[in-house]
Amino acid sequence: MNTPQQQLAKDWRSFERDHVWHPYAHMPGSLPALPVASAQGVRLTLEDGRQLIDGMASWWAVIHGYNHPVLNQALRDQLERMAHVMFGGLTHHSATELAALLVELTPEPLEHVFFCDSGSVSVEVAIKMALQFWQARGETDRRRLLTVRGGYHGDTFGAMSVCDPVTGMHHLFKGMLPEQLFGPRPDCITEADWSEHCIAEFKALLEQHHQEIAAVILEPLVQGAGGMRFYCATYLRRVRSLCSEYGVLLILDEIATGFGRTGSLFACQQADVVPDIMCLGKALTGGYMSLAATLTTREVARTISRAGPFMHGPTFMGNPLACAVARASIRLLLGSPWPQRIKHIESRLRNGLELCRGMSGVQDVRVLGAIGVVEFAESVDMAWIQPRLVERGVWLRPFGRLLYTMPPFVIGDEDLDRVTQAMTDVVAENANGR
Ligand SMILES: *Cc1c(COP(=O)(O)O)cnc(C)c1O
Repeated sequence: MNTPQQQLAKDWRSFERDHVWHPYAHMPGSLPALPVASAQGVRLTLEDGRQLIDGMASWWAVIHGYNHPVLNQALRDQLERMAHVMFGGLTHHSATELAALLVELTPEPLEHVFFCDSGSVSVEVAIKMALQFWQARGETDRRRLLTVRGGYHGDTFGAMSVCDPVTGMHHLFKGMLPEQLFGPRPDCITEADWSEHCIAEFKALLEQHHQEIAAVILEPLVQGAGGMRFYCATYLRRVRSLCSEYGVLLILDEIATGFGRTGSLFACQQADVVPDIMCLGKALTGGYMSLAATLTTREVARTISRAGPFMHGPTFMGNPLACAVARASIRLLLGSPWPQRIKHIESRLRNGLELCRGMSGVQDVRVLGAIGVVEFAESVDMAWIQPRLVERGVWLRPFGRLLYTMPPFVIGDEDLDRVTQAMTDVVAENANGR
């Protein structure tokens, strides 16, 4: 019997497949994971020397590209001072300066920042804020959340409870998951599709249940991992006004949309909507480290605090390295012509993916900001499609019926065209019966 070290030395690939779990994967792994040796700009270099253009920005986070000198330097500077220090009773400038930036950039009156390690946890924090808010007000019946189908908010239990019940596999966790209220998926993709009818069922749920609802939680304008669907600003505006009307808090999960992805710094700004609680993550550190933040208003924070402390406090809260690189990443973004760049990527994606429309097997093609989506009529076979993309020098990670790209904002025209060309090629190959 070999020791793990010996197995690793003998055949590290099979060791990795047999022992290291990947996201949403079997154990042992069924599809091989590609080993990455290094990454630079928008390119991943594999161990065998092949290079792939990253059309995923490592799950939408690496907006400035890999190995960026400014971000590297920010980390080095922080590292020389300290890599970490506990946040209970201690503090540091990297956290306070990042907080100041976030308070300045997010819409008023969001002004209090809670740092944590991942997007899912920032959603848990948001839910706890809403629950403690009503607890403090003595309205202890308000313990449920209202959302819409087709959402994704993370993989921890509270977050999972507001994910789409079907794609979020609620049946697996029945009995452990809080039962939330679900309106239909917003079906008004553009303003032209909007009518009051789009929100009728959601409104009816609020009307009927508002006395037991603590908060509404939504991804603004784009439902990401739940299906890459877009919906119009008017819908979001109506949700905001209904929440106000029924005295329910609004949580907006900007983890996927924050920091420019949809063309505005935060998606809610396109609808002129301000949430009571906002979650940020993913691109917050330019994809360098895991960090997330939950912001809220003075009213929510003060109300909670009148009754007692807010009950959350992760070990690595406000990690200095993560805060330092987040601050550098945001400054880098603000110092770049990002609105023009996103517009440019948007129009190039539109042109590049248009050919897919009407191909056999394709249900829809849609683009918003730096998000380009081809939706198939049926689920895509990962084992078939992924190698074909890699052959074409492109890294994408399709899921369900979706082939999509959310590239780094710094991607050049030629590289972006290679991404859309690779997408078009595999869609065509699929249409021709493989
Ligand atoms: C990715 C994502 C999350 C979860 O973030 P993690 O960092 O993976 O925990 C939550 N909400 C949205 C909208 C996301 O896109």
